[in-house]
Amino acid sequence: MRARLILGLASLVLALAACVQNGDAPAEYRLFAMGTWVDLTLPPAAVHDRPELLREIESELRAFERDYYAWADGELAALNRALSAGRAFEASAELAGLLAEAQRIEAATEGAFDPGVGALVELWGFHGSDDPPPTPPAAAVIYALAGRAGSIADLSIDGTLIRAAEAEYTLDLGGIAKGEAVDRIVAKLGERGIAPALVNAGGDLRVVGAPAERAWRIGILAPRREGLIGTLRLVGGEAAFTSGDYERYVERDGQRLHHILDPRTGYPVTHTQAVTVLAANGVLADAAATALFVVGPAGWERVAEGLGIEAALRVDATGRIEMTASMRDRFQIDADEGSDIIILGH
Ligand code: AMP
Ligand code: MG
Repeated sequence: MRARLILGLASLVLALAACVQNGDAPAEYRLFAMGTWVDLTLPPAAVHDRPELLREIESELRAFERDYYAWADGELAALNRALSAGRAFEASAELAGLLAEAQRIEAATEGAFDPGVGALVELWGFHGSDDPPPTPPAAAVIYALAGRAGSIADLSIDGTLIRAAEAEYTLDLGGIAKGEAVDRIVAKLGERGIAPALVNAGGDLRVVGAPAERAWRIGILAPRREGLIGTLRLVGGEAAFTSGDYERYVERDGQRLHHILDPRTGYPVTHTQAVTVLAANGVLADAAATALFVVGPAGWERVAEGLGIEAALRVDATGRIEMTASMRDRFQIDADEGSDIIILGH
């Protein structure tokens, strides 16, 4: 699984390198955070002029891993403990803001996206860096955890004060937090006037400015083979995030068990291989990609519209690609891509 991921990333970076055609070759920096490589593509002067920049970004990412990962010992874990004990929790403005956005997306997706899925993520064994256990959880245990108890919908968010009726809460921000981390790095680069730049967290990325007044071109991986299904054009500020069943999975009895679960059934989603979303920021792109992955054929396009997403594509379980008309305008299909491609809308 890991080898495939790294190979995939290599193709992505190649595609990126090919797009930067101005003389001043950008510098690449790589940090490992949030379980993935975070690649920064920056103008060569950025780090030369501010040697502390990378250290600042790294320490922000380390704090982020602690505070936004439910199974670490940081702010999110403390929130889960407080809510499970029936206590109110005074959150940082950043965490409260992210919870409010996650709650909005839960409502807009009728529960397809719900960070309250954490107990199920743990039950399936997708919360740590180890492979999940050899035997999938028992149906009765999955059934007992599926449903709405401990959902983000149950939270009352009053400014930074978070309250809920007592229930077991394992809020897991894994479907949205990488977007927040990428946005924070982009904000930091913006404050320092660093552009053009690209922040790429394992294929989920956001761009600042554009190389020599051109658009960025980024590669979208094919879910079931090496290489790309195509390339997507981004302009300054935009984010493109992908949720895929190939990112974290095991195969058991010929079935692919992966990390994106339908909170309403408790099982990994089987109707979709990948969803890519383009949005004006990382948080929305990240959450929407996970959300639309779970919604799938039951109206992903309509839900995307409700979230304010115009450009999105979905690869269904058979490998067929569906995309919105505005994604089609940005997307160049790879010559090797043999799938049917369906353009939705007009
Ligand atoms: P992503 O790679 O952004 O699609 O996020 C996947 C991660 O989000 C998983 O590893 C879980 O931690 C979490 N997750 C899984 N299913 C859901 C869901 N239905 N809603 C919200 N978060 C989820
Ligand atoms: Mg996501």
